[in-house]
Amino acid sequence: MKSARLHEVGRELKIDDIEIPIPKGRQVIVKVRSAGVCHSDVHYRDGKWGNFTPQGLGFKSPNLPMTLGHEIAGEVAEMGEDVTGLDYKAAVAVNPWEGEGLCYYCSIGEEQMCDNPVRLGITQDGGYAEYVLVPDFRYLKTIKNLSFDEAAPLTCAGVTTYRAIKEANIDPGNTLLIIGSGGGLGSLAVKISKAIGAITVIGVDISDKAIKLTRDAGADYAINATENKINKEIMSLTNGNGVNGIIDFNSSDKTLNIYSPLLAKLGTYVMVGQFGSELNINAIVAVRKALRFKGTYTGNHKDFTEIINLAENKHIKPDVKFIGGLEKINDALENLSTLKVTGRQIIRP
Ligand SMILES: [Zn+2]
Ligand SMILES: [Zn+2]
Repeated sequence: MKSARLHEVGRELKIDDIEIPIPKGRQVIVKVRSAGVCHSDVHYRDGKWGNFTPQGLGFKSPNLPMTLGHEIAGEVAEMGEDVTGLDYKAAVAVNPWEGEGLCYYCSIGEEQMCDNPVRLGITQDGGYAEYVLVPDFRYLKTIKNLSFDEAAPLTCAGVTTYRAIKEANIDPGNTLLIIGSGGGLGSLAVKISKAIGAITVIGVDISDKAIKLTRDAGADYAINATENKINKEIMSLTNGNGVNGIIDFNSSDKTLNIYSPLLAKLGTYVMVGQFGSELNINAIVAVRKALRFKGTYTGNHKDFTEIINLAENKHIKPDVKFIGGLEKINDALENLSTLKVTGRQIIRP
């Protein structure tokens, strides 16, 4: 089968011809029909997150060569002897955030934080290939009302944004500020937060195009950060109270310390982006306003199931852009690297 693999950090992926794996036990082979192209693949390709290397962040580099791609939807092609309840050719979305099932985090249902994680396209071969081996059939969810292209990006972009919204502890009637609201994750966050509750959503981004996407996604307010006195405007939109939650898809020196003073009392600041910056907050302010600052990383299997259900029931519709076959993967990564693209790019291997 054709497979787009990273052979060397800092270089383009190469299309190789490799054997289709043979599934055993609870394993399933999925024929990949759509693979979403996530920004973290640019980080894996380049071997750095902001100023950090994987070693600096305390996690292992992928064993190379590795087939990247962790946003996968496709059809069941082969099954191991212990798989039950799945039909051949069933349409499925794949949860790539898997655990070995034994550690503390797996035991509390937070497998995405597993001590020995199994992550498709990261720790083992992923979806930029004609077929992918899924280690356990319980990580598959059958889809009926969703196209493969719509389902694929929900498995990372969707799960991540959905969990980030949960982490923001937003109640009905609250105001949520989304930073980077015109990007792939940001616009999805706008849609999800409008779909799940009576929340006022303010989107912030830095180009007219991104502002239009923010509005199209359904934000109540869309503000261009390059043209406005942003802090003053947001304070006036919230009657001087500030916002109850902030989701930051950049988490860079251009956002963290500029927007965190906008939190209302009991407000929560959720960091999702991995651009890398120091958070500078005075402890007295944090204590007296009872502020919460959190990082969040993808989501668990419950989050995965819920976001797919939200889309299956037509509460949200992901914005996707078909790019081409596997041979277009390096172009797609470059588009992300140079911030040239809006909407999730899709490869059909
Ligand atoms: Zn991703
Ligand atoms: Zn584990």
